[in-house]
Amino acid sequence: MDFLEEIGARRYLNAEDTFTKNGASRMSPAVYQAMQEASAWWVDLYEVQRETGRAIARMTRNEGAYITSGAACGLTLCAAAALCGEDWDAWHALPDASRLAKNEAVLLTPQLTPYACSVAASGARIVQAGAPGEYVSARVLEQAVTEKTAVIFYFLYHGACLSLPLEEALQVAKAKGVPLVVDAAAQLPPAENLWKYTRMGADLVVFSGGKALAGPQDSGLVFGSQKWIERFIRFGAPEAGVCRGCKATRESMAGLYAALKEFLAEDEEARQKQLMEKCLLGRRTMERCGFRNIRLDPLGPVGQASPRVYGEPPTATAAALRESLREAGLLVGLEGEGIWFHPQMLTLQQTQEACRILAEQAGRPAQA
Ligand SMILES: *Cc1c(COP(=O)(O)O)cnc(C)c1O
Repeated sequence: MDFLEEIGARRYLNAEDTFTKNGASRMSPAVYQAMQEASAWWVDLYEVQRETGRAIARMTRNEGAYITSGAACGLTLCAAAALCGEDWDAWHALPDASRLAKNEAVLLTPQLTPYACSVAASGARIVQAGAPGEYVSARVLEQAVTEKTAVIFYFLYHGACLSLPLEEALQVAKAKGVPLVVDAAAQLPPAENLWKYTRMGADLVVFSGGKALAGPQDSGLVFGSQKWIERFIRFGAPEAGVCRGCKATRESMAGLYAALKEFLAEDEEARQKQLMEKCLLGRRTMERCGFRNIRLDPLGPVGQASPRVYGEPPTATAAALRESLREAGLLVGLEGEGIWFHPQMLTLQQTQEACRILAEQAGRPAQA
């Protein structure tokens, strides 16, 4: 009897997305092994954080890297570090930032998502740049930045059509002398995004470790200059304070490091070919089952290079099919009249099994 049987929880194949609620990523044996090795001994956690960060920074062509327990708490950490500067007392007063001269974080109105709460959790007052439904230009962003602004956050993808491009936002930030943080949590693949935004001039860039990187689900990365990384090491977990809850264990540091090594070792073309192969299996299954408006999208739900397949089921409604797939142990996405099949995290064998379930539930037997 394995763990899931023992506690009485169901198991699924995840062809929906790297959603935390689904368990998100799937770690490889090499990742488990690194975690096990890190677990066997006690360490100086500060040293492991610093050295793992150094190694990851070298691998990803960044000046510095810091491991958090996820992208969301990476946002909190960046905001808190921007608020307090080098001030120890200011750090320990957070989330009370009322006495700080610079206690505001500027976010672009079209980019607002519930992740803004992770910025606010630092104690920063959120200031919105732009009116709802209107384009945020460089001028609008400039006007939102005042002498009270500690940091600007820029969320990639969400609200992009109503937001000035990142290049322009960076120009505004530089001109105003305010650091800019990029939330790139789910912007992988391609691997080059790991260094793209820091190269463009972003002060800090946040990624999830538990999505495409297939590291521990409770891991994340912040890239930035050594000055910022040292501040994170000084103020972040295990130090008490507003980010104590963001602690990363030595096991998750080891796991994320191993996952990154694997992710970077894979040639981007080979990665795309493999992802596409799994999508083609899904598409063929949909075709055989008589799905309508089948479409292979080369991009994932937040514009990352992660292909997926859309199709409208021939008999049942999409919502009903999705429910019966779930009952049968397969998670897929839902949009309008159709389902999304996104096998990013599945092995080839799991994808074949997912296709078998799909064919079965869509009412046609699978064929070899
Ligand atoms: C997933 C996601 C996060 C949160 O990432 P975690 O690693 O799960 O904390 C933050 N921002 C965006 C844009 C995301 O997609």
